[in-house]
Amino acid sequence: MPARPRLSVVCPAYQEEDVLPRFHAALSDVLDRLTDYELEILYVDDGSRDRTLDVIRGLAAADPRVRYVSFSRNFGKEAALAAGLEHATGDAVVTLDTDLQHPPELIPDLVARWQAGADLILLYREREVERLPKRVGSWVFYRLLQWSSAVPIRPSSTDYCLMARPAVDAMVRLTESHRYTPGLVRWLGFTPVELPFTPARRPAGHTKFPFGALVRLATNALMSFAPSLPRLAAMAGVVATGASWLACAAAVAVLVPLSEPAARVGLVLLTALHLFAAGGLVAAGVLGEYAARIYDQAKGRPVYVVKESTAEAAHGVARMRRAA
Ligand code: UDP
Ligand code: MG
Repeated sequence: MPARPRLSVVCPAYQEEDVLPRFHAALSDVLDRLTDYELEILYVDDGSRDRTLDVIRGLAAADPRVRYVSFSRNFGKEAALAAGLEHATGDAVVTLDTDLQHPPELIPDLVARWQAGADLILLYREREVERLPKRVGSWVFYRLLQWSSAVPIRPSSTDYCLMARPAVDAMVRLTESHRYTPGLVRWLGFTPVELPFTPARRPAGHTKFPFGALVRLATNALMSFAPSLPRLAAMAGVVATGASWLACAAAVAVLVPLSEPAARVGLVLLTALHLFAAGGLVAAGVLGEYAARIYDQAKGRPVYVVKESTAEAAHGVARMRRAA
């Protein structure tokens, strides 16, 4: 009898003690139906300080399909996903959040599409369930990304996806330090199948992506996938410089003949100077960010450090991973 195809499900978890048992029950319900597959559930504890690791140890003791990797501290979801892909042994790997916002019920459909020949299946949010400020931020971010990215990244992309082994192997070879998984998987090629889904509300726990973390992720995405960003900064500099010259010309042409010209000319010149300086600062700031990222990459620190694990890294390159 030919060996059954092996499916890995990678689940990053940070401070999810409240929702994890529910998540595992829901995931098990779905996976129990996939009797034609050999299954592996790979939890990545991203340095949680609550009881998440204890819960995962309990799940691993009770369910032989469960393996886990636990980090020495919180390295971030992108690092957890990278570790999951490196330690997964499946012929295909599904990645999904452990807070039940990515419905596990979709997995059989993803698997059926994989068996029908899809190498990469990416899910995007069809409807947003988050609060208004997050929705507005997300809208602006994806418009900026669409406009500037050389890689086509669909609005509301998520990292809920299925990758066949060739795509997983290719992902593992991407050793960049500042990561944005929905962009990286899109960069791979493989003609992805893109499917909509409606995210559920979080049944317990709370988001680990406050405003600052979202801005960092958005900056990583824009800087990694928008080659035109330094050009944009230079353009902002040119525009600000032009505007400052126009302001000077306006001061000379319009205001000088009027009464009290000295004060007005002074005001306009000051405005012009501000614009000039602002343009320079924008350009210098963007270039500085790039320099900082090159420095980070050059330091060559690993993306994560493992404290405890029941899973061996499937890839030799895993131990050589670069960056933070
Ligand atoms: N997560 C993680 N490390 C982090 C932050 C989040 O592994 O530093 C996990 C988290 O446990 C969840 C998933 O990433 O499984 C998505 O996080 P969250 O639900 O907080 O993000 P949101 O859905 O609010 O964007
Ligand atoms: Mg969530």
